[in-house]
Amino acid sequence: MTTDEQQTILVVDDEPANILALGSLLKHEYRVRVANSGEKALRLLQEGGQPHPDLILLDIQMPGMDGYGVCQRIKADPATRDIPIIFVTALDAASDEERGLSLGAADYIAKPFNRAIVRARVRTHMSLKRKNDLLEQMALFDGLTGIPNRRHFDDQLQRESKRSLRQGGSLSLLMMDIDHFKDFNDHYGHGIGDQCLQKVAETLKATLSRPSDMIARYGGEEFVALLPGADANGAREVAEKLRAAVQGLAIPHESSSTAPVVTLSLGCATYSSEAPGAALDGLLKSADEALYSAKRAGRNRCA
Ligand code: GH3
Ligand code: MG
Ligand code: MG
Repeated sequence: MTTDEQQTILVVDDEPANILALGSLLKHEYRVRVANSGEKALRLLQEGGQPHPDLILLDIQMPGMDGYGVCQRIKADPATRDIPIIFVTALDAASDEERGLSLGAADYIAKPFNRAIVRARVRTHMSLKRKNDLLEQMALFDGLTGIPNRRHFDDQLQRESKRSLRQGGSLSLLMMDIDHFKDFNDHYGHGIGDQCLQKVAETLKATLSRPSDMIARYGGEEFVALLPGADANGAREVAEKLRAAVQGLAIPHESSSTAPVVTLSLGCATYSSEAPGAALDGLLKSADEALYSAKRAGRNRCA
């Protein structure tokens, strides 16, 4: 999310009066979503398409699954674990509060609630959430191009490698490097060089078609793509599409000895559970070696 986007809060309570009261208190500052049972709240969180809420206000005493149960389920799922939860409840014994906090809740507000206190606590947790989101964004995405960075890519490679071993199938990796980019910088200046990197990144991202494909900036003018499910032929096709897309940008490169425009060299490597060619843990190295054959063979090509 971007930093100026409105944040979303999910209110979970079985009493319509409480939902109404909390909703009217918070709707001016946040997008408010509601669920009148624990089961409905969990279903809402599992639905695809909707971004997760930034904060959950959770009643404890509800028919069916109670707030403790809901909290446990949310904290057990890696996809929802980081959403902060504030319990809002009439249970006010210290042991209730302790139990809530031990389950991973961020805070605890007693009912009947004081409007100013609810507003202040919600603000505090929303502001923390925004800072955490920003830190996560900075840790995983490249500042210049906005696409995933090397760390993000390495994590994803680990995950996809494990999945390939478990489920079988193919996993392909493309290593890419802009041709004669040092000459480009020397000729046009570093600022235009940066703009070129942004355009190339945007084009590579737009050219990949499957939702599971990932493109990342691996280093200075090096990019890398992970293509789960793609076999060697599929990877070659994607590589050729990416190469053509970058050439098609027609960014002038007068000092290139390869072409009058900016071009890209690519190396492909594929792991397949049926015919293991490249070892899974050697995919990066194989793709890198292929990239250097493409460079030696004349650049602006895939190998
Ligand atoms: P080759 O065709 O063999 O790949 O040659 P090359 O000049 O592209 O390769 P080399 O590795 O010698 O140079 C890479 C250049 O990329 C040098 C560096 O200044 C530039 N570069 C790396 N990161 C950035 C960046 O963030 N912005 C800009 N403008 N340039 C960058
Ligand atoms: Mg390079
Ligand atoms: Mg280069």
